[in-house]
Amino acid sequence: MTSSAFSSLPLSPALLTNLESLGYHHMTAIQAQSLPPILALRDLIAQAKTGSGKTAAFGLGILQKLNPAWFAIQGLVMCPTRELADQVANELRRLARMTENVKVVVLCGGTPMRPQIASLEFGAHIVVGTPGRILDHLARKTLDLSKVQTLVLDEADRMVDMGFYEDMASIISACPKRRQTLLFSATYPDDIRRVSAEFMQDAVEIKVESQH
Ligand code: ADP
Ligand code: MG
Repeated sequence: MTSSAFSSLPLSPALLTNLESLGYHHMTAIQAQSLPPILALRDLIAQAKTGSGKTAAFGLGILQKLNPAWFAIQGLVMCPTRELADQVANELRRLARMTENVKVVVLCGGTPMRPQIASLEFGAHIVVGTPGRILDHLARKTLDLSKVQTLVLDEADRMVDMGFYEDMASIISACPKRRQTLLFSATYPDDIRRVSAEFMQDAVEIKVESQH
């Protein structure tokens, strides 16, 4: 039986205090199953439904090893849509609000490049975005992913369905080989198995049926 208290995890006191202040008293099922391997720096494939609390699972994985004094992109989250990227970025900002200035930048299409480039130049710790726009920035050399320690593929099955496989592959190849890769998906089709075989190492696989 695993404990459902966040305090049973090796998280910093600042993160634990913040979770408490957000009213996150107990882990959801996906968090209880995924956080121990995530915090042990394992690669992970997690299958769970919408609304199960996936963002905090990978968010805490990014934040517990993030160094705010180092102005480099240390976490990258790829999402299928702009709406999802905005939601993830907001949740990450909430999770990080008690810790030192953690800067989260959203890179999605349909908005001008200039302000995005300015935000990146100012110094970002975490980038959340859609594959097309992330690739655009890489091509223009306005984005440096060479320091990424945690790579997250959120709603990976939807990204594959939307035809982003090749873009995802190009972006992943711009990240360091030595990194942690976390993949979240509602379903587990062959394409997702292919992603994991190509881009992940010895991944822990978990599946959560119920919501909580
Ligand atoms: P998913 O990505 O799995 O669809 P989210 O990460 O967006 O789900 O989380 C769904 C909602 O649950 C969000 O409003 C989030 O703030 C809330 N939430 C996440 N984890 C917890 C928790 N441990 N306790 C209470 N609320 C939580
Ligand atoms: Mg989500």
